[in-house]
Amino acid sequence: MLDEQEFARVSPYLFQTIREIKNYRELTGAGLADANKAVTDRACEEFENLTGYKESNYLAIYHHRLSNYGPPCSNCGNLLRTPRARFCALCGTVAGADDAV
Ligand SMILES: [Zn+2]
Repeated sequence: MLDEQEFARVSPYLFQTIREIKNYRELTGAGLADANKAVTDRACEEFENLTGYKESNYLAIYHHRLSNYGPPCSNCGNLLRTPRARFCALCGTVAGADDAV
């Protein structure tokens, strides 16, 4: 998972990779799969530099942005799926239930 500071370091490379793939497709008429192979994915390189984890799909990096998720579940510890989630999708615990008096 990337905090906002880390995501800010990777996101310019995401936009660069997407722009290069788009340009490659416009210039060559190639399909998306061929363009993905032809273009150097600097976003995944930077992601690996930051995390040590090798990601193969630049679009998946969007799913590693911590701010897209909610706080940890008070029961199982998994991150809630969104910041506004009302319950844990994994165990069903109601979010914030511990806070209720
Ligand atoms: Zn849970």
